[in-house]
Amino acid sequence: MNRRHFCMSTLAAAISAAHPRNDLLAAVLNEFITVTADVNAVTGDGAQLTIKRSAVQDFGDSLRGRLLLPGHEAYDDARRVINGSIDKYPALIAQCVGSADVKSAVDFARSEGLLVAVKCGGHSFSGKSTCDGGLMIDLSTMRGVQVDPAAKIAHVRGGSLLGDMDHETMSYGLVTTAGTVSHTGVGGLTTGGGFGRLGRRFGLTIDNLVSVDVITADGQFRHASLEENPDLFWGIRGGGGNFGIVTSFEFRLHPMDRMIVDAFFEYPISQARSVLRNFAEFAVNAPDELNIDGGLRARPGRDNYVGFHAVWSGPKNQTDKVLAPLRKAGTLLREHVEVKDYVVMQREGDNTDPRATGTYLKSGFTKAYTPQLIDTIVDGFDVNPSWSANLGAQQSGGAIGRIAEDATAFAHRYSEHNMLLSVSWPVDSDPTERIAWARAYWAELEPHTFGFYTNDLLQSNVPGYANYRDNLDRLVTLKNKYDPKNLFRLNANIRPTV
Ligand code: FAD
Repeated sequence: MNRRHFCMSTLAAAISAAHPRNDLLAAVLNEFITVTADVNAVTGDGAQLTIKRSAVQDFGDSLRGRLLLPGHEAYDDARRVINGSIDKYPALIAQCVGSADVKSAVDFARSEGLLVAVKCGGHSFSGKSTCDGGLMIDLSTMRGVQVDPAAKIAHVRGGSLLGDMDHETMSYGLVTTAGTVSHTGVGGLTTGGGFGRLGRRFGLTIDNLVSVDVITADGQFRHASLEENPDLFWGIRGGGGNFGIVTSFEFRLHPMDRMIVDAFFEYPISQARSVLRNFAEFAVNAPDELNIDGGLRARPGRDNYVGFHAVWSGPKNQTDKVLAPLRKAGTLLREHVEVKDYVVMQREGDNTDPRATGTYLKSGFTKAYTPQLIDTIVDGFDVNPSWSANLGAQQSGGAIGRIAEDATAFAHRYSEHNMLLSVSWPVDSDPTERIAWARAYWAELEPHTFGFYTNDLLQSNVPGYANYRDNLDRLVTLKNKYDPKNLFRLNANIRPTV
């Protein structure tokens, strides 16, 4: 064992003993590879490339984390992403444990001309965090959250998951907006915008960002905030992974009672039209502390129905008054109202085996649930009752809509709802019919939308660039400045023009 290997092994053992949950980190720190052959890979443009054995070895040796090649026992787990239909094989996976590793990986990819994928939580539905033949820069080994309760600030490492953040911040009675599934990555969710049940109260996740540390395509470390590199800071808030890899996020936190009101309301599908009309009327005027998601649902073994999930984070003594319109929206099949720990609720949507289910997803921002849109929703939801499908909406508005569309790169502040259509199937069954149904239904719905959330999907009938609305020119200027060779292209890509 050489001296470096010995030191790393000793360090890893010490970390592992002190924090049993750091086993993965210990394994990552512990291992050195011997590269035995040249590596075949692809460039960003898809051309074949052979990288010399010695260059790969030097790269592996430069990391404090580990470099995985196909055949390594950890390779298969690392290459996987949440969407079970994505099955790609990177030529190399760099499991980074700090910004020095990220810099090494970016420098290596740039000098070799490699295709690059950046993975945090692996939730990109279109599979942008993995690739065939390129370098996956895996941040999932770079997790950690540090809270400064006095300053109401959280420092979140670039590979952290939402659950890491909620868990740490709420232990101080503090919180910021995070998405609805705890194993979604902070990295992808934040750079794309960040919707969650507290968004109407505290804004999108990006609206709570104070600063970021970024490794840009030239391998430089940059701090970005309203004061320092403000152009980069603007672009990272909604421009996705186009401008660099964020190694640390600094978030503003808000005091919030850990116990919130978690409520479900269900109505017969026969009343869908009137229930949605009632919902449309009161949802836009709801207090910021109320978030309502939901819509039409199909579940095997029961009749289709309309279901809403409401989260009230305001004063408990106002709960009945605030939820009254939902109670009156139609004939209730079921109502469940419970005071619950926010962190527990945030974990309840977690799918413990996401790869067992295939999902087809479409989404688009709506300005309002107009009577015409409601008719289209209801008329088209003729779903086979043995399928699992949703035509729902994640509520927007409130604090999200009070920010100017050009204040950040995220350009959909006008939206009241992010409308989502999904249909799922067991992975061993044929999805053709389900996908055909969803496509036809979405073709009717999409004309009622005004763009789409790039974090949900990257393809739509709305051309990608139109989706950036009036922010596009500024984004292209930024891309030309920070990533003129388009090293970071597996994202809602802004192509450089230089
Ligand atoms: P990854 O697949 O790891 O990364 C996606 C992309 O993000 C990468 O290709 C890269 O371009 C970029 N990226 C990741 N990390 C970094 C980083 N550190 N620096 C720079 N770029 C980076 N969205 C919401 O807003 N609210 C929700 O409630 C919500 N719920 C979801 C639930 C599920 C089950 C799923 C699958 C998705 C959900 N989403 C939600 C969408 C989610 O925001 C996106 O899928 C997002 O890309 C996930 O981030 P990730 O880090 O897990 O993704």
